[in-house]
Amino acid sequence: MRYDVVIIGGGLSGLTCGIRLQEAGKNCAIISTGQSALHFSSGAFDFLNKLPDGTRVMHPLDAIKRLGGNHPYRKIGEEKIREYVADVQDWFGKSGIVLHGDVEKNHYCLSPIGIIKSAWLSFDDFEPLETADAFPYKRVAVANFAGFIDFYPRFIADALAEKGVECRIEILNIPAVEKLRTNPTEMRSANIARVFDSEAQLENVLTLINDLSEEVDAVILPAVLGLSSVYPLEYIRKYSEKPVFFISPVPPSVPGIRVQKRLQERFVELGGTFFLGDTVEKAFFDGDTVIGITTNNHSDIQFYAEQYVLASGSFFSKGIISRSNEIYEPVLNADVEYDSQRDNWFCKNVFDVQPYMSYGVKTDTGFHPLRDGVPVRNMFAIGSVLSGYNPLEEGCGSGVAILTALHVANTILISD
Ligand SMILES: Cc1cc2nc3c(=O)[nH]c(=O)nc-3n(C[C@H](O)[C@H](O)[C@H](O)COP(=O)(O)OP(=O)(O)OC[C@H]3O[C@@H](n4cnc5c(N)ncnc54)[C@H](O)[C@@H]3O)c2cc1C
Repeated sequence: MRYDVVIIGGGLSGLTCGIRLQEAGKNCAIISTGQSALHFSSGAFDFLNKLPDGTRVMHPLDAIKRLGGNHPYRKIGEEKIREYVADVQDWFGKSGIVLHGDVEKNHYCLSPIGIIKSAWLSFDDFEPLETADAFPYKRVAVANFAGFIDFYPRFIADALAEKGVECRIEILNIPAVEKLRTNPTEMRSANIARVFDSEAQLENVLTLINDLSEEVDAVILPAVLGLSSVYPLEYIRKYSEKPVFFISPVPPSVPGIRVQKRLQERFVELGGTFFLGDTVEKAFFDGDTVIGITTNNHSDIQFYAEQYVLASGSFFSKGIISRSNEIYEPVLNADVEYDSQRDNWFCKNVFDVQPYMSYGVKTDTGFHPLRDGVPVRNMFAIGSVLSGYNPLEEGCGSGVAILTALHVANTILISD
């Protein structure tokens, strides 16, 4: 099978790169094992929340120059990043993904346990807060579905009470949701979302919300509406008597799954081929050039392309893998940045900065992965498979995924 570009991994970075290339007329295939980090998303894309020295960042574009030289943002360069972010909201809009926020400035949002955290662009479900203290309502009802244990109204109510918000906790009893409780593993956010794909069930929840909203300024609900489309969100927002403020429960993430689906649909609409449930096993080389790859499901047929993109994620997605005394990248056997002393991979205090979070594939400044120190000429690495940054500590995971993807797509297009 022959394509212009084959992308290994269909998470945020692989899809962003694939869509951008298809838009410009390239013929791409994305091969992806399965779920991506988007299925676990908080509901916001982070660009840069903190510098490695711990300094909080509110204007991420201005802070790029203060990052180390190996950080993916420094390899792209501030000027290019400013160019890419200028129309990033419109660009995602073409896939039907509405992102709230100002590309120049971080905003705040509420975490599943009621902590106010900064974010760059929030999904449509969520209302960005201008400042850390600016919760817009004085009296709220924090409502949860009976038996849904992935949402913590008490934590949220306690955290908001500290900000002077009067909170009461309410339980919503909806028979169709109740049915999920017969099997505890079914009572998850994605299954609740499926219940509300029915308009009749939406009407039920709307009635309950309106009944309890008389004495409050707003109702807080878990973000479990709209797995395939934003219609359920729009319906509730349009017909509820008081504003409804959504907060993410713990994963799986309904807004994240919706974003993943939308991106996949857009890639396929543009003519791309998405091989879901297949795993790239091995790349074949002639010197510094990839000449083909094989996959689990197509072991007898090779995939050929002019360019290849490694977007296989970090440990979480098995883009890099740790053994007892080594960390390796399984497709190319690319060079991986990590400490040779295993004891230095992690800190015993789980809340400390964890060194292993920064481990990943080494590349040159053009994002070509290195093998024994030599750049692979026709391959690029993007997103969370990369080394040089700590997505959790710096709060920059999605920004790196999106911006390295756009940059590599651009590089491939310019090289024609
Ligand atoms: C649990 C979790 C939650 C996160 N939440 C947030 C958040 O809320 N906000 C934020 O900004 N960042 C978050 N991040 C950071 C996240 O890494 C980035 O936001 C971004 O989504 C990473 O995208 P990616 O495409 O690089 O990797 P991934 O999303 O990990 O996607 C990699 C894909 O490659 C596939 N794959 C791997 N190996 C192969 C192979 N050999 N062949 C074929 N396919 C393969 C995997 O199945 C997966 O689908 C989170 C990360 C994790 C792990």
